[in-house]
Amino acid sequence: MTGSGINDVLLSRTRNARVLHESGIRRPPLGKTSRVADELGNELAEVVGAAHVLTDPDTRADYETDWTGRFGAPSRLVVRPATTHEVSAIVRICARHRAPIVPQGGNTGLVGGGVPRSGQVLLSLRRLAAVSAVDPIGRRLVAGAGATLAAVQRAASAAGLEFAVDLASRDSATVGGMVATNAGGIRVIRYGTMRAQLLGIEAVLADGSVVSRLSAPAHGNGGYDLIGLLAGSEGTLGVITRVALRLVPAETERAVALIGVDSTAAAVRIATGLRGLTVIDALEIFYADGLALVRARSGLRRPLESEWAAYVLAEVAGAGAEMRLGSALAALGLDDVALAVAPDDRRRLWSYRETLTEAIAAEGVPHKLDVALPLDQLSAFVAAVVPLVASYSAAARCVLFGHLGVGNLHVNVLGFAKDDRRVDDAVLRLVADLGGSIGAEHGIGAAKRDWLRLTRSAEDITAMRSIKRALDPHELLNPGVLLPPAD
Ligand SMILES: Cc1cc2nc3c(=O)[nH]c(=O)nc-3n(C[C@H](O)[C@H](O)[C@H](O)COP(=O)(O)OP(=O)(O)OC[C@H]3O[C@@H](n4cnc5c(N)ncnc54)[C@H](O)[C@@H]3O)c2cc1C
Repeated sequence: MTGSGINDVLLSRTRNARVLHESGIRRPPLGKTSRVADELGNELAEVVGAAHVLTDPDTRADYETDWTGRFGAPSRLVVRPATTHEVSAIVRICARHRAPIVPQGGNTGLVGGGVPRSGQVLLSLRRLAAVSAVDPIGRRLVAGAGATLAAVQRAASAAGLEFAVDLASRDSATVGGMVATNAGGIRVIRYGTMRAQLLGIEAVLADGSVVSRLSAPAHGNGGYDLIGLLAGSEGTLGVITRVALRLVPAETERAVALIGVDSTAAAVRIATGLRGLTVIDALEIFYADGLALVRARSGLRRPLESEWAAYVLAEVAGAGAEMRLGSALAALGLDDVALAVAPDDRRRLWSYRETLTEAIAAEGVPHKLDVALPLDQLSAFVAAVVPLVASYSAAARCVLFGHLGVGNLHVNVLGFAKDDRRVDDAVLRLVADLGGSIGAEHGIGAAKRDWLRLTRSAEDITAMRSIKRALDPHELLNPGVLLPPAD
């Protein structure tokens, strides 16, 4: 699903004062010309112009709180470069002042990695938004880090191609942020994560130098994989300024099915069955409580004849999509199913799943724990996590949904204070006990770094620290994110 109008509307209905405009793209107020307060600010203003160094608390506010409302603190200032050259100059100046930097794209991240922890310089990359012409032979394009996913999708589609990663936050999330978090999304089951789409990268390192491998051929080899290393580095190793992205042929036929199931175990069985019968583009799961939240907020009607404990959403793309999905559903003997082929009908089925994040956020500030489980442990996890969360508070609620095909569940816990980490601890330990990963597609950020040791070995963490020290010896880039505090 790309560029859906539904998303434009739903993202703009965000709870509290997050500024998400009709287009979905946040536009911080630029009316007030900032007063540049200190020497650092003056030097940065020389590079980007005073209008792009924000020191006024009102103009900074949208950059300083994360999407969930759980994380954030005042920055020292916000600086908004427009070119790689300006980013490089900013990083050099900050390095000289030993002023730590938090890179930020669309600020849709869900683990507190793109907002200040305590008075850092907030480096907003949104003005690096250019998208190049598509190279139809190499099936690639080059985009500035601040280009939104929707802008990249539009450019690809205008050339008869597609960009393979898709997220519900497409109108605000930037490709720089998506590479930095190694975003997954709804088509990860078919095309992999953001790292798998990266053909090249340009980034500014902590000393201000620029590394650039934008024109490397797809099979270019030799030396360490700097491109892969920066993917998933969450702003701790370099500031991504441009990326070369792989495009795939556009699929002209699509079919979507929403299937009611009575348990997580049944959902896993169906997922395995469908994958055995045809190529699947998306395979998602959500539960009755999440559906109730979405329906109460949107007024959408009940999607199936009966009410079910859980729902599987499957999409098939390519020639004969409707026939392939229909026969697979018939072969599995599924009856309470809604099948959609026309774009509006498909969008309606997707909206039950894609508006869940918004619907949950409207209920309060959620603790969002994005985890991955081996598929054969998914059912045991779901059975255990709901009572586990409830055992901490009578007011607690635990709403689950996720990317079923890859065992990626989003555990959304409501009813706890922002800084109460008891339930985070309990859920993440359960994930580790079942052989899962405490981080799936949202990254580790500030939210989960204290638990990284649960699922990464001491040797892994030592190796990661060595890489960090080599590239950023003064801890300038996003300190307090990803790596756990030293013992
Ligand atoms: C409604 C909704 C649905 C979502 N669905 C999905 C989903 O299906 N799959 C998924 O993976 N995520 C999803 N997300 C989470 C989020 O959209 C992704 O994590 C996205 O990749 C973040 O992009 P961003 O530009 O907003 O990054 P930000 O939030 O601004 O930053 C995220 C991290 O990347 C770093 N960063 C940002 N830009 C750069 C840069 N240029 N250079 C270096 N570091 C940088 C930041 O420091 C931070 O650590 C969803 C979020 C919402 C609100």
